Amino acid sequence: MGDRSKSLFQKAKTYIPGGVNSPVRAGKAVGIDPPFISKANGCLLWDEDGNEYIDYVCSWGPMILGHSHPEVIQALEKALRNGTSYGAPTKLEVEMAEIIVKMFPSIEMVRMVNSGTEATMSAIRLARGFTGREKIIKFDGCYHGHADSLLVSAGSGVATLGIPGSPGIPRDLARHTISLPFNDKNGVDQAFEKFGPEIAAVIVEPVPGNMGVIVPHEDFLKRLREITREHGALLIFDEVISGFRVAPGGAQELYDIMPDITCLGKIIGGGLPVGAYGGNKEIMAGMAPEGDIYQAGTLSGNPLAMAAGLTILKILKRGEVYPELENKAQMLFSGLENAARNAGIPVTVNRIGSMGSLFFNNGPVNDFEDAKTSDAKLFRKYYRSMLDQGIYLAPSPFEASFLSTTHGEKEIRKTIEAAAVAFGSL
Ligand SMILES: *Cc1c(COP(=O)(O)O)cnc(C)c1O
Repeated sequence: MGDRSKSLFQKAKTYIPGGVNSPVRAGKAVGIDPPFISKANGCLLWDEDGNEYIDYVCSWGPMILGHSHPEVIQALEKALRNGTSYGAPTKLEVEMAEIIVKMFPSIEMVRMVNSGTEATMSAIRLARGFTGREKIIKFDGCYHGHADSLLVSAGSGVATLGIPGSPGIPRDLARHTISLPFNDKNGVDQAFEKFGPEIAAVIVEPVPGNMGVIVPHEDFLKRLREITREHGALLIFDEVISGFRVAPGGAQELYDIMPDITCLGKIIGGGLPVGAYGGNKEIMAGMAPEGDIYQAGTLSGNPLAMAAGLTILKILKRGEVYPELENKAQMLFSGLENAARNAGIPVTVNRIGSMGSLFFNNGPVNDFEDAKTSDAKLFRKYYRSMLDQGIYLAPSPFEASFLSTTHGEKEIRKTIEAAAVAFGSL
């Protein structure tokens, strides 16, 4: 790494735990000191030392139209002149809610929050409040933010750092969370047989992206819908990544399955801190002040965040970007797969639309157990070689790569060439 990033990281570690405000960023899993980013445009990032990177992290998903999108900047500049926060209702919030309801098949009403974590945490409270039950089913390797009830066998940074759970979560709370293997219908059937009347909700990433990308079996998602209905439990789709990513109406549109509650984040904020959760009117009416399940936020529906998010959603709603993203992702991931094959490196590529992952194993990769067989040492070498060649990937074998509309053929070709060099050196 460059000298400026190195010295900033040293200083950061003095003042911030681990030097970062979100654990995976520290680069521990790949043994690097992270580059400190100073600016971004389109699909490119620059660090404090002036190095340029092609970005496949895309802020962990949000930047589907690339960084510094001119329409977003314009909307932000306009909103900024009217002040940054009022703590009072605004027209922008109503427009935002309306466009989400129009784009997401199962959402009739929506509440804005400030992060994906807040969205899932609130959705769980709503499900418990609505059903009067306490148990939650989740799936190994799925990450739903860092709320207490959901940080059990979680993916993302927890998986990257090999943390089995987290200290600080009361055992009395964790025991209400049941974590099962993804894509395993029988496991779900058995859990409902045993705990059926106690289960408030099943929460799932319908397209998991936090143990690397996993392709859901359609009959698995269908079974979740059926069995929750049979037992009076709610089905929560955590579409914080897949929402607006795999289709304009998320995984629920792609697989034609209507969850009871949907959690959104990432893309919805256009790069500002936003989350949301929504569902049908009957369920959402449980929330205060209409109902008595409490949830609130000083900065929720913030005008700058709404202006950025709304601008992005209006563009995505037209739908044109999805075939374009599909083509680009197809080109990138088939190119990576070929490069690996040519070098004799066994890889498994999982991809849905513009999100995908490369596992260093023989596959198939259908759940967290499979994902964990990816060769961490090979990934680490691959990662470092790619970074040295100006390709910025998520510094963990358990994360997705994301494309934006600003990734052009030139950048994709450059990425595949870099990968060929990296694979050749393994
Ligand atoms: C990122 C993510 C979250 C948490 O969102 P934050 O904004 O980081 O709190 C929740 N669920 C999924 C599926 C995510 O990918």
